Amino acid sequence: MTAPHINGLREAHAHLFQHGRSIEMVDLSSCSSAGEVIHLLVERARAHDNEPILAHGARPDGWEEPIWPTIAQLDAVSTTQPIIAWCFDYHALVGNTIALSAAGFDHDSPNPLGGIVGRDKAGALTGVVYERAALAVWDAVPEPAEVLRMQMLRAGVTDLVERHGFVEIHDLKAQTWLGPSLAAIAATYRGRVRFRLWPLVTDLAEVYTSHQAWATDEVALGGGKIFVDGTLNSRTAWMLHPYADSQPDHPYGTPMMSASAIEDSIRQCDELGLPIAAHAIGDAAVRSVLDAIERVGPQARGHRIEHCEVIDADDVPRFAELGVIASVQPCHLLYDIEALRRGLPDRLDRVMPLRSLIDAGLIPGEGLIFGSDVPIVRPDPADSVRGAVHRRRETHKPEAAIGKDQALTEDEAWACFGVASSTR
Ligand SMILES: [Zn+2]
Repeated sequence: MTAPHINGLREAHAHLFQHGRSIEMVDLSSCSSAGEVIHLLVERARAHDNEPILAHGARPDGWEEPIWPTIAQLDAVSTTQPIIAWCFDYHALVGNTIALSAAGFDHDSPNPLGGIVGRDKAGALTGVVYERAALAVWDAVPEPAEVLRMQMLRAGVTDLVERHGFVEIHDLKAQTWLGPSLAAIAATYRGRVRFRLWPLVTDLAEVYTSHQAWATDEVALGGGKIFVDGTLNSRTAWMLHPYADSQPDHPYGTPMMSASAIEDSIRQCDELGLPIAAHAIGDAAVRSVLDAIERVGPQARGHRIEHCEVIDADDVPRFAELGVIASVQPCHLLYDIEALRRGLPDRLDRVMPLRSLIDAGLIPGEGLIFGSDVPIVRPDPADSVRGAVHRRRETHKPEAAIGKDQALTEDEAWACFGVASSTR
């Protein structure tokens, strides 16, 4: 597939440092069972016996037996090195006892706010933790030293720019240190690549204070990022209707912010003249963001909803009406097919209603923009074009397509990756 009629490719949703770091981690994306995951972890633990074993890319929903390795299996790999294996969507992970206890999770610890600690019927840890609980386990692993960090960042940028040809990249959870580091890297590309940074709203004041020192035409602050819900694979995306196979006690998923907290975040960004980018995957989360933007009526332009994987029909026209950008990763459709069929069997027609969004006034490349969310999935734009056009994996029969009526043409899909000529 080729990219027609566009001035350059934009990756609208990436995590640059995490992408570079994940290149060094154990890649579990080819595994099709818990046993294969354990096998790769054992190999890494043998080769590196005194450092944490970090892995990513596991997708149990795609396995014949969709069951994570157990904490006992991970403890059998090592009891002295922390072991962490991320679900490909980075909203859940499985860890061994030492990794979980470093974050304070043991046999009688409560769930943290916005997180779930997996337990069996007897209350014992399963090793699987979700959302804020997963982040707590990850945060307990020491960050790489600064030199290594810069190497990892550079590896992530190099892959996107040189291997995939992007000329504009948006980082959707920019670390407080990212701006100056990216400015140094961007200088080596002499104006050929632009970066836009979206730090968490909680970090925004700090980044804003420093950004005069590093911001250029190439590297600039985009706005603030918030997380309103979880993901479909973890059944933590916040839905208007219950899942067919929900988490215990979370039939509608897990909202991660109250309506007033979303409004406060929009106001905080607006005071700095910046828009917000809200992670919202479920239709309840999408609606709560649209409601908040409508109520606050911010001055800043360019507000975005990231992912919007399920959108209620009533909310589709509100994007164009409120001037909200839909930032979608159709490549996720290729990975989420099993989770969608199991979790939302009656509501597949509401998944990524791209055709309806365009019909309701969103312009490809301006109001409707595409990205990959790398390293959640690989950053090849052809994957998103396939997801948007065919709505199924290449190996699937045409009738396996999800929401066929919402398909785009190839030209429209590439246009969603296009950098508008006015901004180049
Ligand atoms: Zn993301």
